Amino acid sequence: MFYIHVLTLFPDFFSGPLDVSIIKRAREKNILNVEPIDIRDFSHDKHKKVDDYPYGGGCGMVMKPEPIFEAVEFAKESCRKKARIILLSPQGKLFNQEMAKEFSKEDHLILICGHYEGIDERVKTLITDEVSIGDYILTGGETPALAIIDATIRLIPGVLGSSQSALNESFSEGLLEYPQYTRPPVYRGLEVPQVLLSGNHKEIELFRRKKALRRTLEQRPDLFKKLELSEQDKKLLES
Ligand code: SAM
Repeated sequence: MFYIHVLTLFPDFFSGPLDVSIIKRAREKNILNVEPIDIRDFSHDKHKKVDDYPYGGGCGMVMKPEPIFEAVEFAKESCRKKARIILLSPQGKLFNQEMAKEFSKEDHLILICGHYEGIDERVKTLITDEVSIGDYILTGGETPALAIIDATIRLIPGVLGSSQSALNESFSEGLLEYPQYTRPPVYRGLEVPQVLLSGNHKEIELFRRKKALRRTLEQRPDLFKKLELSEQDKKLLES
């Protein structure tokens, strides 16, 4: 069983997304256990306050360290497997498919969602990773946590219906995925490429490889630069 604890001020945020599609099925198959933990439950304040004014002044509120330290301890004790403790933060390392692969090999993830102006810096002494999902500011760590959960659990064996589906997807080999089509073969004059209707598997494979290479070159030159092209790849790109 793969365990994920999400420390949040808004546990209800997760009730919809965790109850649909692949995440729901992984939970039903007992491959995955995701539990939101309400940081407020660990507040020492009679009004359940979890934030306070920043030392040194400045605008906004900062999440206090005590409830987060204790919520992390609770999450660690309730699973007793070595945990990867991930702070969601716009200042963190940019999340990508490689990181999702790495996380999917763990047994236990603890995700800490910030809110307000952020989190008391001392929380960083607890964590193993600080992760951002992009160079923009969101209101809280809940949306990034969901993105990380979704991308990670797809890579856990048994979660996807067919193991092939994750293998061919964009980024799995450093390439964007080839274009996909389904029926009808012609729609409003737009035709599905003939080769895909031919039944010639070798030709289809070459067509898809060429399209994936070209698409990566045009849409993500940064990824393309990192590819090691075979002689066949070079020929396909020239053709
Ligand atoms: N004042 C902080 C700063 O400038 O870095 C931003 C705080 S943001 C409004 C509140 C919380 O949302 C953060 O503590 C973090 O948990 C989460 N968050 C916002 N944007 C994020 C991003 N791009 N990636 C990951 N987490 C993010």
